[in-house]
Amino acid sequence: GIFDRAFDIAGHHVYSGASVGVVLGRAEYRSPDQVLRDADTAMYRAKAGGKSAWVVFDEAMHAAARARFQLEIDLRLALEREEFRPYFPPIVSRADSRIVAVEALVRWEHPQRGLLVPGEFLHVAYEAGLLAELDWWMLEEAGRHLAAWRRRYPQHAELRVNVNVDERQLGSKQCATDVAAMLERTGLPANALVLEVTESVFRHEHGQVAESLRDLKGIGVQLVVDDFGTGYSSLEAFAASPFDGLKIDRGFVQDMETNRRHRAIVRTVAAFADDLGLAITAEGVETAAQARLLGELGCDSAQGFHFCAPLPAAALEQRLAESAPIPALA
Ligand code: C2E
Ligand code: CA
Ligand code: CA
Repeated sequence: GIFDRAFDIAGHHVYSGASVGVVLGRAEYRSPDQVLRDADTAMYRAKAGGKSAWVVFDEAMHAAARARFQLEIDLRLALEREEFRPYFPPIVSRADSRIVAVEALVRWEHPQRGLLVPGEFLHVAYEAGLLAELDWWMLEEAGRHLAAWRRRYPQHAELRVNVNVDERQLGSKQCATDVAAMLERTGLPANALVLEVTESVFRHEHGQVAESLRDLKGIGVQLVVDDFGTGYSSLEAFAASPFDGLKIDRGFVQDMETNRRHRAIVRTVAAFADDLGLAITAEGVETAAQARLLGELGCDSAQGFHFCAPLPAAALEQRLAESAPIPALA
């Protein structure tokens, strides 16, 4: 076809392709932009399937587009109605299973669909520009719960909370100020808050993200890198960043016993962390054998189903209360 040949643009040979979305006229269409919207959807499907293809818009695409649209509407309502809940997987000291921290993971109590996990809605929140708002809400909730638990259970007065933050939050000039304000409101000390960020952030040596990280460090908040080992960042850039710790990704821990390469990565990362004086946490520990091996490799804290699944606030609090020593009679 015409796109098999090069175009001549100002003396340069330029090859181009075309992806085409086709819509068949239907009685339901009320306006031209509805037709274009569906043609667009089909065109993106064509693009996703490889170059230079054409795709006809069909019912399944229509249903998927509607579901996506509905999810976005529901997400906005959910923020308003506070349908999100933090679930807390304990982070334990590997040797004695003592809870040293909890992570806050978002769940959505959807009024019709039940409890949803992040994989079912976080990407839509991100694309719709709602993730930062959701994350700020989570941060506040996590801070509120933690401050209360530390007060209520003196034997857990040192408990910390890990909260996932998104690059967009760090991209805001207000980031550290907003975090400081949350700490003030909830009464949580700065060193009880651990922010988890993905490796992608320390690729920014300059700019607002780097500045926010320094400012957060400045107010005493701790920073850890989540899913360490899955990104493509340099160890140099990481070593130069203001981090206090790192979390080894579940993908390496999972098959550590049988996969020599992954075992080597865990060992190397643990040694690297140790040399730099960084705390290290292993994620996704599911068996006693994994927990033991992690100990041998020098990893002191861990989380995963072997220790405890993520718990809603009330259940986690129950755990904290149970590990309370019996108060002495006055
Ligand atoms: P993550 O931060 O790496 O969280 C760990 C995920 O692994 C959680 O999934 C947790 O339930 C799961 N997990 C923990 N231990 C085990 C285990 O032993 N075995 C298995 N198979 N899975 C385990 P979840 O809750 O579905 O969260 C998925 C991701 O969504 C999180 O990965 C995090 O990146 C993101 N996320 C969760 N909550 C938030 C949030 O409030 N804000 C942002 N920005 N991201 C969040
Ligand atoms: Ca995390
Ligand atoms: Ca992780």
